[in-house]
Amino acid sequence: MSTANPVGVHALVWAGGTTQPEIESIVASTVAAGYDLVELSLHDMDRLDVDAARKTIADAGLQVSCSRGLAFDADVSSDDPEVVARGATFLQGSLDVAEGVGATFFTGALYSALGKYGAPLTEAGRANAVSVLRDLAREAAGRGISLGLEICNRYETNVMNTARDALRLADDIGEDNVSIHLDTYHMNIEESDMVTPVLEVGDRLGYVHIGENHRGYLGAGSIDFPAFFHALARIDYAGPITFESFSSAVVSPTLSNDLSIWRNLWDDGADLARRARSFIDVHLAAAASVA
Ligand code: MN
Repeated sequence: MSTANPVGVHALVWAGGTTQPEIESIVASTVAAGYDLVELSLHDMDRLDVDAARKTIADAGLQVSCSRGLAFDADVSSDDPEVVARGATFLQGSLDVAEGVGATFFTGALYSALGKYGAPLTEAGRANAVSVLRDLAREAAGRGISLGLEICNRYETNVMNTARDALRLADDIGEDNVSIHLDTYHMNIEESDMVTPVLEVGDRLGYVHIGENHRGYLGAGSIDFPAFFHALARIDYAGPITFESFSSAVVSPTLSNDLSIWRNLWDDGADLARRARSFIDVHLAAAASVA
């Protein structure tokens, strides 16, 4: 049984950066492991050859999405107008790169730095994030790009940690091309179960990250994936499902530290990714069989 969902893999399974030699390796490995889509984190976009990457990805017949988080000195959820402005400029440049490589979906912690905040979000900071993301969404719409709000756990953002928070933020942004991005790793930390958030988000779900509670091999942790995949089937989710996993075996000098990747959970990305693709297919088919 097959489903309509494009199944993707995060590029950090393969390489720490996105130089053109790394892009060529990422794309070849993604195809070899049987995926439809590659997700490129833009943490290394200064060294990304946009035109060459676009061609490499397109020639391989892959779809591409882009993701990123912001930084504490360039954060649209700050109270400080200068920090907000740097965040907005950062997002604008990232949107250009996403469009340049051929992505139609740009997601992540677009609303926040990726890291541990020392205090709650302020009203002014939230209003700044809403305002910047509304402008970005309108700009993105003109380029045929949708934005995702990836719901991250409390140790990576103070802006939104649950599906309900994200729906409120998306309501306040108020643009049709802004959708919700659920990640099972973050859900496991913040949500009450793996079903309710999916049903709450419903047809506003635009993107999914599949990751274990320790971000290693799927099925080697404690997340209730059957429940989650059955919930996706109940809402007829047909969007991308992207496998996300990190190990100290593949290091980005920036993103790995932002995500607290201290442990070695695997060494062989190809084996990891092949097994994840099978795991996702089995769960999608099982859920579809009783939906
Ligand atoms: Mn994620």
